Amino acid sequence: MDGSVRLDEVVMRFGDFTAIEKTSLTIGSGEFFSFLGPSGCGKTTLLNIVSGFLVPSQGQVFIGEEPVAGVPVNRRPTAMIFQNLALFPLMTVFENIEFGLEVRGVGKKQRRETSERLLALVALEGSGPKQVTELSGGQKQRVAIAGARAVAPRVLLLDEPLSALDLKLRQHMRAELKSIQRKTGITFIYITHDQGEALTMSDRVAVMSAGRIQQVADPMTLYRSPATGFVAAFVGENNRLESRLVDREGQRVRLDGGALGELVGSAGEGVSLGNGDRVALYVRPEHLKPVAADAAGPRLEGEIEAVHFEGASVMLETRLTASGEKLRVQLGHEVSRQYADSLTVGQRMTFGYDPADAVVLPD
Ligand code: ATP
Repeated sequence: MDGSVRLDEVVMRFGDFTAIEKTSLTIGSGEFFSFLGPSGCGKTTLLNIVSGFLVPSQGQVFIGEEPVAGVPVNRRPTAMIFQNLALFPLMTVFENIEFGLEVRGVGKKQRRETSERLLALVALEGSGPKQVTELSGGQKQRVAIAGARAVAPRVLLLDEPLSALDLKLRQHMRAELKSIQRKTGITFIYITHDQGEALTMSDRVAVMSAGRIQQVADPMTLYRSPATGFVAAFVGENNRLESRLVDREGQRVRLDGGALGELVGSAGEGVSLGNGDRVALYVRPEHLKPVAADAAGPRLEGEIEAVHFEGASVMLETRLTASGEKLRVQLGHEVSRQYADSLTVGQRMTFGYDPADAVVLPD
């Protein structure tokens, strides 16, 4: 059962507006793949192109190596779970799960067997006769998953399915969705603007901005080696210092940080940078640590403007003495305890970082 999905030079225009720029991408069979991006970047549009709700203006979609142009939504080997779960509130759990089978002409006995099996799989055995309105948010979620699975899709398309749930349940459902995906081997294509969801569940993530895929990579690579400034700023938290490239030796680059003096970082993967180029250095709050004012290596002196205790860590908001730019610094439990006396508003501190952790990208 090949659940791979391939987009070949897909473009989507609505009138004069291009919602999806030319995109080519292959999603592997059995992969948990997410599209991550801010509202309006084109995630839902791409999903609708795969499901067949939208016909691309250009390009081809293949599911399991078969071109699906002209194949209607209900004939594609895909099923979709929407943000609002799209359950029928006046129907029972059984009726909801069996709906997709009924419209495909499956007989009553087989429908009931399938729905009972699927209810057991999502740990809701015995709930079939209940009205959907009697269920909790998490239970409704599981009914939606069972319903989507009833039609035995090769690809499950999920459009922000957790966004209506409260935080605790959302976290629980992340683990549950991931485990269902692993157990079934169905390809999951998941869209979200929540990076936490994308990073914790996905095998790979495509980060999107304004109709364009910025980077496709596994979560750790996205976090450690963002390919563009957009990814560096959107995935996790980053400090951004504008600068100019002075000298490059392999991955290591020296920058003219203006009033900050010399900055050092590592060139982003695959980016072309030349001397004199305008660049930005991205260094994450958790990669900064207090150092002596005369320590070797990159140093940034800042004045603490706010101290936020966040449980497992302390977040400092500082302003760089030389340039007036903001710098956020996250100190782990050990370090914050060690420097407890210095962590007060108005205090000046010097921070250092390992140049291997600071990514330099074109500005
Ligand atoms: P959200 O997270 O808010 O759902 P999204 O990333 O899913 O956003 P899309 O719904 O795919 O974004 O929309 C992408 C862009 O295309 C938006 O600017 C939207 O206004 C536009 N768009 C989507 N559908 C249509 C349509 N049928 N006609 C015209 N413009 C559309």
